[in-house]
Amino acid sequence: MATKVRPRVAREDKRSRAGLADDACPNCGAIMRERSAVLRLPVNGEEIAVPDSAHLRCPKCREVVLRMDQARKLRERALEAYRSRYDLLTADEIRSIRERHRLTQAQLARLLRLGGNTISRWESGRNVQAAAMDVLLRLIRDIPESLRYLKKHAA
Ligand SMILES: [Zn+2]
Repeated sequence: MATKVRPRVAREDKRSRAGLADDACPNCGAIMRERSAVLRLPVNGEEIAVPDSAHLRCPKCREVVLRMDQARKLRERALEAYRSRYDLLTADEIRSIRERHRLTQAQLARLLRLGGNTISRWESGRNVQAAAMDVLLRLIRDIPESLRYLKKHAA
């Protein structure tokens, strides 16, 4: 069965201040166990199941905690699963569409009414575009007129 969590990332400084062991549950203090199971992580508002996700789990209260590297890995794999589910444009493809139209990241963000850092997050792979945004990017790529339309209606 899948564990549905918004994983908590272990914070070393908080732990040592509280005098807890490295693998002590932040909830109840019991020693947690290394475990590998399906974890669910939200990506663009959608729960993505990631199988075989390493994490720590409390045998007493069932709290799930991820070490920093485990949390990074889980996020990477959740983004990858989302990307493949919707067959999204890759980070490089987004960059090349933008550069072909001589837009800066900020300009493209404005046209699509996105936050200022959004395009940079997509192009660096730190985040993935929602499936709906992917359609807009493909329109810009395949139908040059759509960019003129967006520019005309830019906020
Ligand atoms: Zn616990």
